[in-house]
Amino acid sequence: MRRQISAPDYNLEDKNNELVASPPGGAGAAHEEAPRPPPPPAPRNGTSSKQGGLTIVRRSSSRGKTESSPPTDEQLDQLDLETEHLPAVDTPDACDKAALRLRYLLRQLNRGEIAVETLQNNLQYAAKVLEAVYIDETKITRHAEQPRVQPTTLHMRRLRTPCWARCSVEKPNEAKRLADEDDELSEVQPDAVPPEVREWLASTFTRQLATAKRKSDEKPKFRSVAHAIRAGIFVDRIYRRVTSTALMQFPQDVVRVLKTLDEWSFDVFALHEASLGSPIKYLGYDLLNRYGMIHKFKVQPTTLENFLSRIEEGYCKFHNPYHNNLHAADVAQTVHYMLCQTGLMNWLSDLEIFATLVAAIVHDFEHTGTTNNFHVMSGSDTALLYNDRAVLENHHISAAFRLLRDEENNILQNLSRDEFREFRTLVIDMVLATDMSFHFQQLKNMRSLLTLAEPSVDKSKAVSLVLHCCDISHPAKRWDLHHRWTMSLLDEFFLQGDKERELGLPFSPLCDRNNTLVAESQIGFIDFIVEPSMTVCADMLEYILGPLHSSTKTSTSTVKQDSINEESAGAETNTKFKIKKPWVACLMDNKKIWKEQATKDAEDRAKLEEEENGPPPTQPDE
Ligand code: 5GP
Ligand code: MN
Repeated sequence: MRRQISAPDYNLEDKNNELVASPPGGAGAAHEEAPRPPPPPAPRNGTSSKQGGLTIVRRSSSRGKTESSPPTDEQLDQLDLETEHLPAVDTPDACDKAALRLRYLLRQLNRGEIAVETLQNNLQYAAKVLEAVYIDETKITRHAEQPRVQPTTLHMRRLRTPCWARCSVEKPNEAKRLADEDDELSEVQPDAVPPEVREWLASTFTRQLATAKRKSDEKPKFRSVAHAIRAGIFVDRIYRRVTSTALMQFPQDVVRVLKTLDEWSFDVFALHEASLGSPIKYLGYDLLNRYGMIHKFKVQPTTLENFLSRIEEGYCKFHNPYHNNLHAADVAQTVHYMLCQTGLMNWLSDLEIFATLVAAIVHDFEHTGTTNNFHVMSGSDTALLYNDRAVLENHHISAAFRLLRDEENNILQNLSRDEFREFRTLVIDMVLATDMSFHFQQLKNMRSLLTLAEPSVDKSKAVSLVLHCCDISHPAKRWDLHHRWTMSLLDEFFLQGDKERELGLPFSPLCDRNNTLVAESQIGFIDFIVEPSMTVCADMLEYILGPLHSSTKTSTSTVKQDSINEESAGAETNTKFKIKKPWVACLMDNKKIWKEQATKDAEDRAKLEEEENGPPPTQPDE
């Protein structure tokens, strides 16, 4: 099924005329992009079960053809009442057809002009359509329980307008225009909202206390499907309006930098400066908003701000030159590039995107600035706790989830239990896979999987590989950025070397400040680690996203084979789907610079040696 999501905008004029509304807490790959009616008032925090409700599938083209605007007599006169060639009952088209037929039947009944058989057949079809609308809800529940496998559904996502563009103090008129454009609330009559929804709105978003309590056995009743849709839209609009007024304010300098967030060589150092040392706070917030996560998982803006601030603090705890908040922001931005510029976001569910972004943000949380090897060799408490296995990675995950136990930081409090479990498993898998000691195994596994005739790529494995690649991606960025990262990492390595010397431990590789060949080691890192990783990752993305691409042919984020020249080396056919690979050129450039540097370093060393020891002995003539 092809689906253009109007994600959180409830855009009733989506190009393919389709709108799906899912129930409160509804999960599952096939439905997660759908706007949801209001969540229950009490936070669920991953502990309570899902609430029931209708899943409503409706063609947006039918706007104006629902209750408020029934079909004209002319339209009804032209209706053919045969029931043999009707669309499948679980499709949006079926809803339109059934509604039209019911209208027709009503008219004919009023006129007393209807054959019993026609009446029966058409009522039966309409009933099946309504049942299918309901059955969809059970599909959601079952889907959430199934293992994560490659879905056959396609969600063409559209990222949200950044919140700084909505409420930027820089351009009040622009912000107003965007807000107006966005807001179709005026088209929804307030009386379309049932009393219980009103009550929830009032008690959640105003200081008003819930007055009349609903009796426990009294279920919300929507007068009609159209009514339910309108109520969902109304509530969602209100929610967005309320949350956007509470959205974090973005300083102008931060906004200026964030405008380039979609670029491969995004300057995270500039963001660090502009944000006065809080890149995670702004970048994390912006990303989670752009992907609609704040909205979809009902994250309170202040809770998110708290969470991101605590994470940022954790990254600054040990004042590391490299493994700090900047690195986390850099990795999260690179993951964003992979999600949105390759089209990966269209292969993933909301929950998977949420988990991927959060995993990137927390993946080195409270890093000590020393390696796993150092923890093990020095017998640190953390090594003791995690039995020398993935010591740091285990700590990053554990400490981040511990933080989430505090209500004020708990951005997951409105996830259902199933959603929480899936989210947690994904984050654990992804962060554990950033342990460099899994690198070769991880690459080998993916490579051999991709050689199979019909590989089935596990979602968790795919996003883990993406995160791992983003984690080591700075050598594949523009030289100025890569060079700065290299210097920071070396600073950190050398500080570890100093500690190793103090403790009488052997130097870890690259940690001896007096004996490290920087350029050579970087060439090696690029040749043996980064380049092969990016290649396997790109192959994997092209494999998993190919079918999505061929079924749409509309992706603007992909490039044609003939336009990528050097990047398309090894292409098999002219029709094979290719992603943009800006890293290919960067890796080549950076390697060239390191090679020049290595030559120069070797000459300098030879000169120095000559100064110290005199000229090298000349070779005796043969
Ligand atoms: P992280 O520790 O960030 O989770 O995992 C990335 C690891 O990749 C680093 O710890 C480090 O070992 C390695 N790495 C990242 N960038 C470089 C680099 O520029 N040169 C070298 N030699 N290793 C790097
Ligand atoms: Mn990292």
